[in-house]
Amino acid sequence: MLPIVNVAQLIAKKRDRETLSQAEIEFLIRGYAEGSIPDYQMSAWAMAVVLRGMSEEETMHLTEAMLHSGVVLDWSVGLPKVDKHSTGGVGDKISIILAPLLACCDVAVPMISGRGLGPTGGTLDKLESIPGFRTDLSIDKIKRVVDTVGCVITGASAEIAPADKRLYSLRDVTATVESIPLITASILSKKLAEGLDALVLDVKFGSGAFMQTYEQAKQLAQSLVNVSSRLGTKTTAILTNMNQPLGVMCGNANEILESIEVLQGGGPVDVRALTLAIGSQLLVCAGACASREQAQAKLQTALDSGRGLQKFDQMVAAQGGDRQRISLPGRGHIIETTQAGFVSEIDARQLGLAIIELGGGRRRIEDKIDYSAGIAVRAKHGQRLEKGDSLVEIYSERSVDDAVKSMISKSFKIDRNEPIPFQLIGECITSPS
Ligand code: URA
Repeated sequence: MLPIVNVAQLIAKKRDRETLSQAEIEFLIRGYAEGSIPDYQMSAWAMAVVLRGMSEEETMHLTEAMLHSGVVLDWSVGLPKVDKHSTGGVGDKISIILAPLLACCDVAVPMISGRGLGPTGGTLDKLESIPGFRTDLSIDKIKRVVDTVGCVITGASAEIAPADKRLYSLRDVTATVESIPLITASILSKKLAEGLDALVLDVKFGSGAFMQTYEQAKQLAQSLVNVSSRLGTKTTAILTNMNQPLGVMCGNANEILESIEVLQGGGPVDVRALTLAIGSQLLVCAGACASREQAQAKLQTALDSGRGLQKFDQMVAAQGGDRQRISLPGRGHIIETTQAGFVSEIDARQLGLAIIELGGGRRRIEDKIDYSAGIAVRAKHGQRLEKGDSLVEIYSERSVDDAVKSMISKSFKIDRNEPIPFQLIGECITSPS
């Protein structure tokens, strides 16, 4: 192998579609994390990757280099360590329900999550709508909460994959987010830093998802599963449909209240079904249950017995929160349909953007969120409506302007014919082995 001469040569190699070695990728990532490689060179390299791609081998080396730019958690708890990751969707609150539920099923859940940017919300923002809830835990505190409660949901501290933190901010402003190898390395460097035995990825497709088409989502899922499995973590992915919001509540505080409803044994059918599907996949993947049926029954018992809710309350208390103090504005403004028929399409992305307009999401990472702002989706795909029936109820402390109301009502397509049924859960992707 030729010695690494300089960064410009590595950028040129990628531009010329040559494969970078493990040593070259490590050199780039180490240099960038330490500050010896400047942003302008790294952004040129990231753009070369966007345009030319990376092999699975290169993506694996990139993931490893980014993972080892920080600490990897080691554990004294004897239980399998598991987590799930979602590529993000409107109304997606599954992590909040699933972490405590899994902790009732003989596995430990050290979940490191992210914030919302753009139309999809973020788990940390939702949890911070619980007064007092801390998402900036130190590594020692993360370990203590997992040891005592069995689950934690927190943000990535500066010690977790610092190279990704820097590179992701750079990609955000240089049009280099949309690249399957870069997304794979970014997601996995943070998740694998949790020291996991098993990981399930909820890769969403459709209008409210990061990956709009099924094919793109499938490619991302396969890349994530292959790279994560090659790095030693048992991993599967489930493709799920984001062509309508998940559940009824979309926002922050209202999604916590809906999560509590599910943990009390109720809540929307789609949220409950997806929670059980992802959870059972994860318990089997971790070797904690022999079959999906057995895993599903175990999760169901944790839900119906109230043990999941107790675990949630323990986690919230350990992280300083008090869920009794969550507040929502009173009854909101109702958007009604102006025609009768069946709901045939819902533009989840537009609804996510409307939530940002209400103050419930951010356009830029530094924006402040109004946790109480959000919507309740009162009409779902395939539902038959009469003229004047509710589509959406808006929660907002401020007066809602007409542009937002129009955005919301235009997100629904009403048709005289009944549409084909909505299929929430698609293929399950496993590694080729
Ligand atoms: N989420 C991440 O963490 N990284 C990406 O690159 C895209 C989405």
